[in-house]
Amino acid sequence: MAQINTNFLKLPGGYLFPEIGRRTRAFAAEHPEKTLIRLGIGDVTLPLAPAVIEAMQKAAGEMGCRETFRGYCEETNVSYDFLRFAIRDSYKAAGVELADDEIFVSDGAKSDCGNIGDIFSADNVVAVCDPVYPVYVDTNAMAGRAGDYDAAAGCWTKLVYMPCTAENGFSPALPDRPADLIYLCFPNNPTGAVATREQLKAWVDYANAHGSVILYDSAYEAFITEPGIPHSIFEIEGAKTCAIEFRSFSKTAGFTGNRCAYTVIPKDLERGGASLNALWGRRQSTKFNGVPYVIQRAAEATLTPEGQRQIKESIAYYLNNARIIREGLSAAGLTVYGGVNAPYIWLQTPGGMGSWEFFDRLLREACVVTTPGAGFGPSGEGYIRLTAFGDASATEEAVSRIRAAL
Ligand code: PLP
Repeated sequence: MAQINTNFLKLPGGYLFPEIGRRTRAFAAEHPEKTLIRLGIGDVTLPLAPAVIEAMQKAAGEMGCRETFRGYCEETNVSYDFLRFAIRDSYKAAGVELADDEIFVSDGAKSDCGNIGDIFSADNVVAVCDPVYPVYVDTNAMAGRAGDYDAAAGCWTKLVYMPCTAENGFSPALPDRPADLIYLCFPNNPTGAVATREQLKAWVDYANAHGSVILYDSAYEAFITEPGIPHSIFEIEGAKTCAIEFRSFSKTAGFTGNRCAYTVIPKDLERGGASLNALWGRRQSTKFNGVPYVIQRAAEATLTPEGQRQIKESIAYYLNNARIIREGLSAAGLTVYGGVNAPYIWLQTPGGMGSWEFFDRLLREACVVTTPGAGFGPSGEGYIRLTAFGDASATEEAVSRIRAAL
């Protein structure tokens, strides 16, 4: 008889977003006359840049001609040279030297953050930030690296949780027991925090000293506005022997529906005498046949000077929403974090209210949908996450409704 992977049975049913949906639908059914504003979603809302559309149309035309039609991609790392070279050059412009075969193009940072576990043993000790992007936790649970889920504590027994709190500026301390795989995400989802060069250097030194691997998710690097904040872990000396970086066109260029991302694995990164670049290359070429040609051309267009100018306009629009939320709510006396170098605002609930209680209050009294912080891990209790991906006037309206409901 076929045996299932029983680790799947340990996963608590997707609680956060289904529960938000359930409460929101129930409220909307009770009050059909009210207009809801959704500041909970992490999806972009602005259309693709004109340079991207032009590139997609041109590429679609090429696919319709015998001479220019493309089938399976046979170039390095199952992605086209033009895109890997453009990504390599964009790193170079930011002061990071990479070889193009250290770059793996994929259909998403979500897939890559999840799939990367394939090249690591089930015995590794995994450390995650708390609160955390749930994909890191659930994919390790599926692979048997997380132990059992303790529902009362809201934690997995074998994972090392690194609390990110207001006291530590949402930048975790080094783990108190040895960790082999360390997930870091800056700018952070959900707290909106960024890491300084000194903080990242401490992680790199720790990982090199312990033989750990840092899994660095910089899906939101394009939102960094302040000078001096690293956009890439590879800006830090020593990172090439201990880190893997995930990046995505999703939030950078509105590609959540287009699907294109990339992962960087330096050739200097070895563990157990093996090159992790080679293992990942083997994994990808076995289980993945690449991103559609049209989408790779679209991604390439975002890296041209005109594409960059256009996508930066969208990022500025979202960051202005973040400013509206941050300034509007702090002026109302709330304690607000993030939203400067990130599209996320991490709002402390007033008067020590629970995350879900405050979620319900904002839903009922302001008709604004948010995301309760408790859904991201135990240290998220007492916070809610607001996103800046909405429409600017709806965002302003949401802020004034929240202020009126306090
Ligand atoms: N990493 C983080 C921290 C995210 O918040 C998200 C999406 O919300 C992703 C990765 C997923 O990116 P992609 O759309 O490339 O799969």
